[in-house]
Amino acid sequence: MEDEALHGEHAASACGSAADASSRPPPFAVRGAHGARAANAGTVYLVGAGPGNPELLTVRAVRVIAEGDVIVHDRLVASEIVALARPGARKIYVGKARSNHTLPQQEINALLVRFAREGRCVVRLKGGDPFVFGRGGEEIELLAAEGIPFEVVPGITAATGIAAYAGIPLTHRDHAQAVTFVTGHLQNGSMDLDWPALARPRQTIVVYMGLLGLPILCRELVRHGLPATTPAAVVQHGTTARQRVVVGTLGDLPARASDAGLAPPTLIVVGDVVNLRATLSWFDPAACRDAPRAAALATAD
Ligand code: SAH
Repeated sequence: MEDEALHGEHAASACGSAADASSRPPPFAVRGAHGARAANAGTVYLVGAGPGNPELLTVRAVRVIAEGDVIVHDRLVASEIVALARPGARKIYVGKARSNHTLPQQEINALLVRFAREGRCVVRLKGGDPFVFGRGGEEIELLAAEGIPFEVVPGITAATGIAAYAGIPLTHRDHAQAVTFVTGHLQNGSMDLDWPALARPRQTIVVYMGLLGLPILCRELVRHGLPATTPAAVVQHGTTARQRVVVGTLGDLPARASDAGLAPPTLIVVGDVVNLRATLSWFDPAACRDAPRAAALATAD
């Protein structure tokens, strides 16, 4: 399995020798949490790559990516971001689509440990923020147990990045007191969410991985008390030149999204704040396409 990933279409050049350690970003704090630090182990940087637009990286992320020996990256990380790696860095694609797990999670975890034990500076690049629906916690649990030093570089999560680019202020105080992030991932065809809590008024709900379950989401929110007229939106490829936004209500959004032929990655936003988009929308994906240097190119599918 591992060899498939290493030699698959996304694998790049062979690993060069580890870069001069003195040129590497000094870790802010590294710990091998449980027990002794593994001898001569390299550091693993768990890095948030932001919501899709390569311009939305942190300064720390750019620096760490540029100096890594090995870049282990996911499906939703833009190719422009992976391209920030130094020449000779080894790039390994371990992305997952819903039905096509390129590399099982346990093998990804083991891969990070293996490269770190070889003394490599390992950059584990994940879409958005690594601790928001990203399994980042699971990946560093093994590092902590093995005494491998690590650092977490936060990223702009899809909810905040995409809301900004869609002109939807998530907690505009005239409309919402709270915002809740949930995963709409279906398990056995249903969505296991706390519907009474989600259906309370004056809050915004942001749903990751929710497109397949959109009809269930809208139906259950209405069944638990939200008006069918509650504004809601689906944003596809948010923050990039391919951004598309479909706005509707809980009553008609599933039909609108299906008519528009939306496909993942998409983010769903529910709440009165969605109405603000009518006046606050500012991002023009077409202008972005016409100005390639402004980055914002597509996220990889
Ligand atoms: N750790 C990531 C989320 C990983 S789950 C973060 O913090 O953003 C992946 C889900 O995020 C996708 O299924 C989709 O719901 C959402 N997502 C990520 N990038 C997106 C984009 N550019 N446009 C729309 N949704 C996106």
